[in-house]
Amino acid sequence: MKEFIHKKPYLIAGPCSAESENQLLTIAKAIEGTADVFRAGVWKPRTKPNSFEGIGKEALTWLKTVQQETGMKVCTEVATAKHVELCLESGVDMLWIGARTTVNPFYVQEIAEALKGVDIPVFVKNPIHPELGLWLGAFERLNKVGIKQLAAIHRGFYSYEKSVFRNDPKWELPIKLRKEIRGLPIICDPSHIAGKATLIEDIAQTAMDINLDGLMIETHNNPAVALSDAEQQVKPEKLKNIMQNLVLRDTKLRDEQFKEQLLDFRNQIDNFDTQIISLLNGRKQVVEKIADFKNENRLTIFQIERWFEILSTRKKNASLLGLDEQMVEELFALIHKYSILTQTNIMRK
Ligand code: PEP
Ligand code: MN
Repeated sequence: MKEFIHKKPYLIAGPCSAESENQLLTIAKAIEGTADVFRAGVWKPRTKPNSFEGIGKEALTWLKTVQQETGMKVCTEVATAKHVELCLESGVDMLWIGARTTVNPFYVQEIAEALKGVDIPVFVKNPIHPELGLWLGAFERLNKVGIKQLAAIHRGFYSYEKSVFRNDPKWELPIKLRKEIRGLPIICDPSHIAGKATLIEDIAQTAMDINLDGLMIETHNNPAVALSDAEQQVKPEKLKNIMQNLVLRDTKLRDEQFKEQLLDFRNQIDNFDTQIISLLNGRKQVVEKIADFKNENRLTIFQIERWFEILSTRKKNASLLGLDEQMVEELFALIHKYSILTQTNIMRK
C-alpha cells in the first residue's frame, strides 16, 4: 500500500453530478481551500431509467477546467473499462468505484485490468448490501494488478427496514474492514448515508469519533435544483460550517492520567462481560434441565405464550432502568434462539 492521504480529515467535496461547466467552476471556487479533492459524477448509476444519467464524457473536459483554474485534484466514478480509459486520457487525478459496481466482481475485474500499470489513487465504495467479502474482494483485485494507492469509502448499506437513514451506516463494517486491511484509509460519505442534508453533520462527527480518515460530502451551489440527489447536497457555506464544527479527538491519548482512567473503565467493562458470560452459562444449565423435564413429560419445546411473557417482562424491566427496549428485545431473541437449539439437541439425543 502506498500512502497518498497525508491530512486528516481528508475532504472530498463537490456535486453529486456534473451538470455544467459553470456549475462545476462555481462550486470548485467556493470550496477551494476547504476541500482537498473535487468530486463530480460524470456517469450516474440510477435506480430507474429516464432519470438524469450524467452528462458523459463531455463533462471530463469541465473537470479539466476545474484542475486548471483552481489547482484542485479532481475525481469521478468509473463503472466500466471504457470510463477508465476516458478518465485516464483526460487526466482525472483519482477514481472511485461506486456501490452498485463493487457488488459485481465482473465489473471490478474489468476496471482493475483497465488500470493495470497506472499509478492513480482508487477509492472503493462499500457494496450496496453489507457483505464485507465483496468489499475486500474489490481491494484484492485492484491490488493484484498493482494499484497501491487505495482507500475505502463507507457510504452505508441498503436496508429493507424503514429508517431515518437513506443507507444504514452499520459502523461495525468499516471497523471490520480496518482490521482486515491494516493501514487502509477509510473515508465516510455521510451524504449517501443520510439522504438528507440535515443529518450530515452528525454522521460526519460519528465518523470522526470512530477515527475514520476523511469525508466525502456532496456539495452543490443550488441543491434545490440539483439534477440528482437534491435532498442530500449542502451549499459550500454549509460545508465549511460542518468542517469547522467537527470535534477531532486525539486517539493517541498522550496524557498518562487519561490512559489510566481509560484502562480502569475497560477493566470494569471486562468484569461485566465476564459476569454476563457466567450468567449465560448458568441459564444454559437450567435450560438443559428443562429440556429433560419436557422430554419426560412429552411437552413441546416451544410455547408461544411463554416467549411473549419473557419478551414483555424483560422489556418492562429494561425500560424501568432506562435501557434501550429494542436492544433488550434483540438480545433476548438471540438468547431464546439458542435456548431452543440447546433443547432440540438434547431431545434428539
Ligand atoms: C455518488 O457518489 O454520487 C454515488 C452514486 O454514490 P454511491 O455509489 O455511493 O451510491
Ligand atoms: Mn449522489
